[in-house]
Amino acid sequence: MALRANPELIEDLALYGAEDVQKCYNCGNCTATCSLTDAKYSYPRRPMRNLQLGLEKKLESGLEPWLCYYCGECSTECPRGAAPGETMMSLRRWLTSRYDFTGIARLFYRRPRVEIISVVVVALFAGLGFTLFGVFGGSISHYNGQNAFLPSSTIHIFDWCLAALLLAFLLPNCVRMWWFTVGRETLARDRRVRLPASAYVKAVHLLPLHFMTQRRYAKCDRKRPWLVHLVLMLSYVTMLVLIMFFLRDMWSGPRIDWRVHVFGYLASAGLVGATIWALRGRLKKSEVHYQHSHETDWMFLVLLLVVALTGVLQHVLHRSGADAAANVSYVVHLMAVVPMLVLEVPFSKWSHMAYRPLAMYFAALREQLVPVTAVEQAPGGAQAEPVILSRVP
Ligand code: SF4
Ligand code: SF4
Repeated sequence: MALRANPELIEDLALYGAEDVQKCYNCGNCTATCSLTDAKYSYPRRPMRNLQLGLEKKLESGLEPWLCYYCGECSTECPRGAAPGETMMSLRRWLTSRYDFTGIARLFYRRPRVEIISVVVVALFAGLGFTLFGVFGGSISHYNGQNAFLPSSTIHIFDWCLAALLLAFLLPNCVRMWWFTVGRETLARDRRVRLPASAYVKAVHLLPLHFMTQRRYAKCDRKRPWLVHLVLMLSYVTMLVLIMFFLRDMWSGPRIDWRVHVFGYLASAGLVGATIWALRGRLKKSEVHYQHSHETDWMFLVLLLVVALTGVLQHVLHRSGADAAANVSYVVHLMAVVPMLVLEVPFSKWSHMAYRPLAMYFAALREQLVPVTAVEQAPGGAQAEPVILSRVP
């Protein structure tokens, strides 16, 4: 890979939050402090150096930013106040915009006002659309059953359409991530390494494993951030499964169906609790990883809190017999859900739910890279042992 330097990269990264990179004098204290780094994936000093040198392609093909979980220990130990933890966070934002084929992520990160306006416009359109649909198709005083303002069957179809739209945006970006980090190196005409197809199958279990547990995060010295993140993640996934597959059961009532509602209550408590915890931390700057908040971090948390609270509110109102108020709350809920799923998940901070487990998977794939010359020398080309080029703990 030709290493061309982009002298403007460092200024560009400042728009993503990396404002103190110039202060770094490469002492390496940060890397020595980090409990997640190793000889193969050495960070944060090395990516900081690449950033100072403007080595754009090298950063683009790197997985290091996704292997950092922003515990903030390195920033605490930096003698120059160069905020290496925040730089890794900024690199994740920058990479998100590099993977995104539409350019929307880049626009949102570099011009946060555009993100705010987009979210508000999409929310207003969603609110108007659902209100008109409800007024012409049902009655505001009916929450479920015949004549419902927003019938569960219609909303269910709408949810699946949203999911399809989300995947249509996110999947190409995941493919681009693969291309930058694995594909380009292994499929290039002048490639020096190749990847056996079996490696893709052998490591595929890492995707659900890291998605559900974030077990690499658990290796940080401080366990509380991992725990809060885990609660948030599991609550979100539980709620998603309930909405996509059990919406009608969630809707039924006024009797409580404990088989599904107990999961809904746990997930709601987890979402509200973890979101308030994170918002409070960012407001008070109580921990080092909360001290530098990019505008997009707020949008992520605020939308999630609105979704969770309006979801709880409509449930309480409906169970109390206040169906008209429950429907109003439901419209507000959907006004937050729509921009969250079609704008925030594919183009903003939420996309890390896909990119982090993928990074673990791709890092495992890179362990199985085989030098092309060794394969050619082996009889029949099949005897070559995989050469360990990198290893993720
Ligand atoms: S970020 Fe700070 S600790 Fe890390 S190499 Fe630079 S000056 Fe040293
Ligand atoms: S923030 Fe934590 S995990 Fe990330 S590089 Fe710094 S010490 Fe390592």
